[in-house]
Amino acid sequence: MVKIGILGCGGRMGRMLLVETLDHPEAELAGGVDVAPGIAGQDLGLLAGRDSIGLAASGDVAALAAVSDVVIDFTLPHATIASTPIVAAAGKPIVIGTTALGDAGNAVLAAAAQQVAVVWAANFSLAVNLLLGLTEQVARTLGPDYDIEILEMHHRTKIDAPSGTALAFGRAAAAGRGAALEDLWVKTRDGVTGPRTSGTIGFATLRGGDVAGDHSVIFAAAGERLELVHKASDRRVFARGAIRAALWAASNGTGEKAPGLYGMREVLGVN
Ligand code: NAD
Repeated sequence: MVKIGILGCGGRMGRMLLVETLDHPEAELAGGVDVAPGIAGQDLGLLAGRDSIGLAASGDVAALAAVSDVVIDFTLPHATIASTPIVAAAGKPIVIGTTALGDAGNAVLAAAAQQVAVVWAANFSLAVNLLLGLTEQVARTLGPDYDIEILEMHHRTKIDAPSGTALAFGRAAAAGRGAALEDLWVKTRDGVTGPRTSGTIGFATLRGGDVAGDHSVIFAAAGERLELVHKASDRRVFARGAIRAALWAASNGTGEKAPGLYGMREVLGVN
């Protein structure tokens, strides 16, 4: 059994991770940490919507890392930046789903990856990760006559835009064209923008309701349009993928993965 600790256990993803960890035959819940008012001290089973398990949420990341084989973090960028070095110092692998980490966050992950295995993915769904590979392949094959636009919709409380997954699709498309996304992206359009600049990758963001995450990658040319679409209807798919990554990072009995920064492609063994 792999002991999993969960950072952000009171959040939407955190509660889903509690459920999936409790239900997984190879996983054992080591504990959970959250700083939201009223969460520390609550029974983790009750937080997951289950019976009490006699294990309470706390606010102590170091203590959680000490009793975990691997830690999963779905929180906020500043929280991930603070927690990751603590988990790495404890020598425990870490799986991170927090998005919009920025340059400071990416530097913290790179530093931790010198000490332990760090898995970060903008999206832990199996289908999304397969679609990322397909996006790169389609972008490479269709070439610059096809304009690439990426559309995403998420629930009304999402705080970053475009979503981390939309940016991951953008990076995959840019890689298919042998370029860096930062050289091609158009993240917003407003007013008299003029005609579309050839070769750019455009983004559009929708927010509303309780949408777990919809993404479309659109390849539009004169006379035809190809759309790759993924719709998540339940956060469970992200939680399951994160637990799969955690078991992979802890390698369940065969020794931990070597220090390094990994993505879901390595976890799933796909190109
Ligand atoms: P949420 O706001 O519901 O939950 C975040 C939780 O983190 C809250 O309970 C908050 O109190 C807690 N938190 C904040 N600071 C903390 C700290 N210092 N220590 C411990 N806990 C702390 O958000 P959510 O919808 O669960 O999403 C969380 C993150 O995961 C976001 O960045 C989101 O974009 C990302 N996300 C990623 C994927 C993926 O597959 N990679 C999927 C869904 C969401």
